[in-house]
Amino acid sequence: MGGGAVSAGGGVPGAREAELAANLARVEERVTRACDAAGRARADVTLIVVTKTYPAEDVRRLAALGVRHVAENRDQEAAAKAAACADLPLNWHFVGQLQTNKVRSVTSYARCVHSVDRVRLVHALSSAVVNAGRPPLDCLVQVALEKKPGDSGGRGGVAPEGVEELVTALAGAPGLRAAGLMTVAPLSGRYAGEPAAAFERLWEMSRDLRARHPAANMVSAGMSADLEQAIAAGATHVRVGSAVLGVRPTLG
Ligand SMILES: *Cc1c(COP(=O)(O)O)cnc(C)c1O
Repeated sequence: MGGGAVSAGGGVPGAREAELAANLARVEERVTRACDAAGRARADVTLIVVTKTYPAEDVRRLAALGVRHVAENRDQEAAAKAAACADLPLNWHFVGQLQTNKVRSVTSYARCVHSVDRVRLVHALSSAVVNAGRPPLDCLVQVALEKKPGDSGGRGGVAPEGVEELVTALAGAPGLRAAGLMTVAPLSGRYAGEPAAAFERLWEMSRDLRARHPAANMVSAGMSADLEQAIAAGATHVRVGSAVLGVRPTLG
């Protein structure tokens, strides 16, 4: 899977618009079908288009096509694009590993951070939001289902055992809102190659979390290759990049 996106673009005026429109329509159809299959309302799932590695012009084209949620994973790139698109009615999401020295910048454009994975980051985000007098920032704890307690390094995210501590920290942090959980289908461990099982596990964790924090109801899961499995498992937000914009030339 991967959505069959084409990434040419071409030199023909309007060709990129047409390509993005066609890709977006295909993704929208996949989301709608997955919602139907799961007996869920289409309105229960928010499509976030991940625009990393693609230029601000593409973000502008997507906004013209009705996209309202976009995501980035690197601050330097995101900050420039958000500034170039400041006139557009877009909600920016940050989904990448986040260093504390980038927090002040990220909180200046992002309304939601999906990648909270350590207490130090919670404190840094809170200070940045409070000091700049910004509205409350939605924060998701990124769960790395493949990690054991104490594992650090590798891809972002905290081991399942560490979620509670982070949610408690978020709930008590001025300027932040404990908004839910996020995951990326693991490449290793017992959930490798089993995105459906991984997303079901995330859903169970979300259910436990909502019993104590009813407002922490966002479940961010599913990308181009596995958005159907995520929607079947209860995802409220899917993060789709290459199926809309084309296969990225570099890892990112
Ligand atoms: C790049 C990225 C996505 C989108 O991935 P695609 O496979 O291109 O859809 C989703 N989530 C995160 C955290 C990402 O870094």
